[in-house]
Amino acid sequence: MTDLTGKTALVTGSARGIGKAIALRYAKLGANIVINYSSDTANGEQALKEVHEHGGQAIAVQADISEAADVDRLFAEAEERFGSADIVVANAGLELLGVPITDLTDEQIDNMVNVNARGALLTMHRAAKNISDNGRIVYIASTAIANPVPGAGLYTATKAPGRYFAEVLARETSDRGITVNIIQPGPIDDAGVFIDSIPADSPFRSLQAAGRIGDRIGTPKDVADAAEYLVSDLAAWVSGTTIGVTGGLPQ
Ligand code: NAD
Repeated sequence: MTDLTGKTALVTGSARGIGKAIALRYAKLGANIVINYSSDTANGEQALKEVHEHGGQAIAVQADISEAADVDRLFAEAEERFGSADIVVANAGLELLGVPITDLTDEQIDNMVNVNARGALLTMHRAAKNISDNGRIVYIASTAIANPVPGAGLYTATKAPGRYFAEVLARETSDRGITVNIIQPGPIDDAGVFIDSIPADSPFRSLQAAGRIGDRIGTPKDVADAAEYLVSDLAAWVSGTTIGVTGGLPQ
């Protein structure tokens, strides 16, 4: 059993979805939790309430990860409340599927680059500067990186930089005992069922069909299981690597 008592975990984009599942898992394992959300205050408050129900200490911080000053404030508020973070999960991200590259607007490109690429890099940069020795950093990428799908060009391209940043960061922080790893989820849905909003003729639909074991696709719990492993003693010698939680898709 993983024991995170006395540790502090900061998870970006943790008001819902995969980030929330990871934050709640770490709370159950005894960690102090820093919930982060951008604009969905109601979900941030709800996530905070659920962490408290697990008996954990937690704060919820509104911060846009694509803004350097916000990321600085996020880490400063975490430190002020709990001291240096021991675990940082760079999870927050935006999805954009089903738009061919020629149909993308400049606004969509800027937004996705700012949140998915710049935001992930800023989060890991500040994590490396603020995290305690022997800390754990996890980047939530996507199996889209390894499975080019028409209509997912911008998403794929903006999720990739974080992976390579994390791999180099692992080498640069190893002398401090810090591990940096990547989780590449495949298709994930709360209920583990096909995401109906994706048109039946979309190539992403076939990716979902391929990325499953048994009769379901992945759930946030599957990703939280991998995120638990990476901060556990079992993963003390695991760094700079990518774990696919993909239902069998390449990662
Ligand atoms: P989600 O949309 O349910 O949650 C993403 C969270 O990030 C939201 O709470 C959102 O408010 C937050 N966020 C967005 N922009 C932000 C910003 N600028 N600053 C701070 N927070 C911000 O998505 P999810 O499915 O839980 O995905 C979480 C991560 O997992 C993402 O990085 C995504 O790319 C990745 N992922 C998801 C899937 C999937 O199928 N769901 C598959 C592979 C990878």
